[in-house]
Amino acid sequence: MERPADVRVGRSSAGLGLFTKEDLVKDDFIIEYIGEHISHEESDRRGGKYLFTLNDDIIVDGKDRKNKARYINHSCRPNCDAEIEDEERILIRARKRIKAGEELTIDYGKEYFAEHIAPYGCRCAKCSEK
Ligand SMILES: [Zn+2]
Repeated sequence: MERPADVRVGRSSAGLGLFTKEDLVKDDFIIEYIGEHISHEESDRRGGKYLFTLNDDIIVDGKDRKNKARYINHSCRPNCDAEIEDEERILIRARKRIKAGEELTIDYGKEYFAEHIAPYGCRCAKCSEK
């Protein structure tokens, strides 16, 4: 397993966010999105914004604070990607060069955006430019 990046939770424009403490290059492994493995039915029952689809059978419920990756905010122009490895693990990787101190962001997709972002307005850097 690759070494995770040195990250910290801090204040961002959207409440708390996750920031890198070191320079990263494209495809660098940053952090694993961890949590309880539950069924799709259980996921629908629980709801919430920290549910991450792993495969056709399993959803990862990452609401526990031990899952630091839960602090990664949505951006419509993200600097990270979530990658499913062997249908078993959710790995967050840099999609471009990221400097130490920058906030880490992911595009969580249409469904997440419609449910958790659109009602409040997106506060990502790209949308704030408008
Ligand atoms: Zn946005």
